[in-house]
Amino acid sequence: MVFNILQKNFTIDVNGMQEVHSSCRRTPSSSGQDNRIYDGFVVYYKQQLFMLVGECIAPVKTRANELSSNIKLKVFPVWQGGGVASSGGGWGQGWGRYMQWEPGPGDGGQDPVFDCPLWCVLCQGGRARLREAYQRGRGALRLPADMLSIRLPQLFDIHQVPKVFREDGIISGYRHPQSSALDCILSSFQMTNETVNIWTHFLPTWYFLWRFCILCCTQNFLSESYTWPLLVYMLLICVYPFTSSCAHTFSTMSPAARHICYFFDYGALSLYSLGCAITYGSYVMPDCWVNSRLHQHFVPIAICNTLFCTSLSCYSRFLELQFPHRSKILRTGAFVFPFIFDNIPLFYRLILCCGGSCCHGEALSSHCYHLLFAFLTCFLFASHLPERLAPGRFDYFGHSHQLFHICAVVGTHFQMEAVLADMTSRRAWLISQAAVPSFMGTLGALALCVLLNLGIIGVFSVPLLWNSNHSANHPLTPPSKRKQQ
Ligand SMILES: [Zn+2]
Repeated sequence: MVFNILQKNFTIDVNGMQEVHSSCRRTPSSSGQDNRIYDGFVVYYKQQLFMLVGECIAPVKTRANELSSNIKLKVFPVWQGGGVASSGGGWGQGWGRYMQWEPGPGDGGQDPVFDCPLWCVLCQGGRARLREAYQRGRGALRLPADMLSIRLPQLFDIHQVPKVFREDGIISGYRHPQSSALDCILSSFQMTNETVNIWTHFLPTWYFLWRFCILCCTQNFLSESYTWPLLVYMLLICVYPFTSSCAHTFSTMSPAARHICYFFDYGALSLYSLGCAITYGSYVMPDCWVNSRLHQHFVPIAICNTLFCTSLSCYSRFLELQFPHRSKILRTGAFVFPFIFDNIPLFYRLILCCGGSCCHGEALSSHCYHLLFAFLTCFLFASHLPERLAPGRFDYFGHSHQLFHICAVVGTHFQMEAVLADMTSRRAWLISQAAVPSFMGTLGALALCVLLNLGIIGVFSVPLLWNSNHSANHPLTPPSKRKQQ
């Protein structure tokens, strides 16, 4: 924090008097004499401002151990002026004395440079005088304490945080591993290695919500059951980026909280895969597969996939520390498998039916862009590129998880456009040829899956919460050791 007092800038660390910066400058006066101006300290102490002024009685040396013999210090409340600490009078009389000093013998015309931490000053009896001045001036100057005491939380390097918080190739920018919820929210406005992860899913949430609101105005979601698959899909593409954004925000509250946050993230992603299956089963299924056995069982199989995906991805977190590769393979597989299943109708349309009757070219380009970004998303998630090639270079911008988020969102955008194109262009044919989407096959399936997924997340979360409570109440495990786990 910088104050400008009498045209001089003072940098003040409001939280630690040990870190107060000061300066002693030599400035030629207008008359050309070798007068020097010695800046004082402005000290913020117990919600009051104080001025500490050095009256130099000998040339100032740069070495800290020579300071005490060269400087006589004055301390007074800044709002009363220098005269309080000496012979009376206010700013007008007091400043002149403190602002100038004569060079002593042996100075050699060198510019005095003084950069001393405040404790150097206080150890000469300044602390008592400071306290006295504080008592005298209490209440005379009240600056908004909250404004001055807000300070960005410290960030940590990889070796300073427990293993469970470490990310491959990310060296710096870690938040405190036991942040409060408020710290976590505030950290989204501070540049950490999670900030871009948070915003790359928070902002798209609002984009998808905006698209959803427009569709609410143009589609009849209440009474037209043909639109219910789209309703489920739109709900889920708003939910999954928002859940991910929250997971990245609050993942540094504790190791258990981190796991639980990502359990919810995985749950939301697997629900999104259910949303894809419901829309693809209703709007994207090729003409020749409509009413087939696969079509009839498409959503029930997708529900099973969702449960499998959530369970496996949550389980993979327990293997992360001991078997990181196995954990990564299981987690990647947990999401790739439902993705491939959901896209079987689309693969058929693109590969085997291209140019044929079930091709429906209007949506084809959007479907292709979606698949392209989906493959990119998967590649980035699995490869940890580019930070794996240059650890530490992409800590804040450009690491794989940020690119993964962006590709996922762009892919979802193209998928939404493709689904809307198919839904609109095939409406008449699908309503006449296929069974109308049922409540149980759309919103009912979603509600069932939400409940089952919450149950799975609960099953995986309970042991973590129990363990963290148990270790917190266990006096034999020191907190420092617990942090290392
Ligand atoms: Zn993420």
